[in-house]
Amino acid sequence: MSQSNETIIRNAQLVLTMNDAADEHAACDIRIKDGVIAEVGHGLIGQGAVLDAKGCLITPGLVNTHHHLYQSLTRAVPGGQDALLFGWLQTLYPIWSRFGPEEMYVSAQVGLAELMLSGCTLTSDHLYLYPNGARLDDTIAAAADIGMRFHPTRGSMSIGESDGGLPPDALVENERAILEDCIRVIDAHHDASDGSMCRVGVAPCSPFSVSRDLMRDAAILARDKGVMLHTHLAENDEDIAYSLEKFGCRPGQYAEDLGWTGDDVWHAHCVKLDGQEIDLFARSGTGVAHCPCSNCRLGSGIAPVRAMRDAGVKVGLGVDGSASNDAGNLVLEARQSMLLQRVNLGADAMSAREALRIATRGGAEVLGRSDCGQIAVGKRADIAIWDMSGIEAAGNWDAGALLLAGPSQVRDLFIEGRRVVASGQVTSIDLPKTIARQNQLARVLSQA
Ligand SMILES: [Zn+2]
Repeated sequence: MSQSNETIIRNAQLVLTMNDAADEHAACDIRIKDGVIAEVGHGLIGQGAVLDAKGCLITPGLVNTHHHLYQSLTRAVPGGQDALLFGWLQTLYPIWSRFGPEEMYVSAQVGLAELMLSGCTLTSDHLYLYPNGARLDDTIAAAADIGMRFHPTRGSMSIGESDGGLPPDALVENERAILEDCIRVIDAHHDASDGSMCRVGVAPCSPFSVSRDLMRDAAILARDKGVMLHTHLAENDEDIAYSLEKFGCRPGQYAEDLGWTGDDVWHAHCVKLDGQEIDLFARSGTGVAHCPCSNCRLGSGIAPVRAMRDAGVKVGLGVDGSASNDAGNLVLEARQSMLLQRVNLGADAMSAREALRIATRGGAEVLGRSDCGQIAVGKRADIAIWDMSGIEAAGNWDAGALLLAGPSQVRDLFIEGRRVVASGQVTSIDLPKTIARQNQLARVLSQA
């Protein structure tokens, strides 16, 4: 859905390109044409609209590598606010089992709008429950309507309460049906081309919510179709203990045995990876979706991101679902990732620029998008414009240190060359109406 019109973004105070050389340009213009970055430089001339970016920092659009968009309908649910993971899930499962197609569509749109306002231009989503006729297609429609570049994953759970699992039986599916629906949504929606607005992945919820067979079959299916694999891995201490007890090995070993390592795989959390597992991920090109706020919120721990990066592991950021964050602001997530490494390792453990690189280029690499994540000629025109003239940045000596002192919302956002946020407002949908509908749906769910 490229646009044929052209835009020149004029006179940015600073552009952080996130290219290989990490170039930064002061007083810089960017020309966008047909959804692609056509020129980066000074005094550019073109036919199309001109957008003044005086006093602004420009970065590539941020990339979110882990989310459960549907959870934006169950934020701050009282019974789950202070519960540990197990109790948190048991509070929320019965509520989620009452969702249907409209709940999926509206909650996805609210989550996507929130991401856009915080600078995100590409997000994955992990939807692993399909009650009452809900389908992955509901969230794909929501992303298409709002104009987000999307990497939805067809999640699944197959081990319900009656088989000793945690979710109620009504929320789990038969494994054959899961694989068949994976094939259906890939054939219907997956676009592997450069500039794709929708790539579909395969994503059993976690090694504990599906069988060993389904994990293996999902990997075979994904490779056959040329799509990526995603799941939750090594999230907390219980996770490791469970793996050792049930599978007789650590999560990294389990993943490797079942085909769940490689540059077409990324795992969420990985808080508890040990040194050998970090080496395995680096060697195999396996990616990590680091979710610092969720890890804090659920008390999971501090992921060894410094060690992962030093070993060469691909790391991106994720806000995780809104039921375990409960916010969905990606630039604040980037700030949190910087702070959390410093808690463990000291103030020189991660710079503001490195955290921003993880949030942009890093995420694009995790999702296999070499066409996104940097401001360079020929890359997709996914661009975040940050107004550094407001209160948050007043007195800031270094515009590139956005994560130390800068706004937490964009002024303007381009996705595939289309201006989806203008002057701080989402332009592609009627957001106040969508929020009102979301609140109505939440009220109905809370009264059931
Ligand atoms: Zn998650």
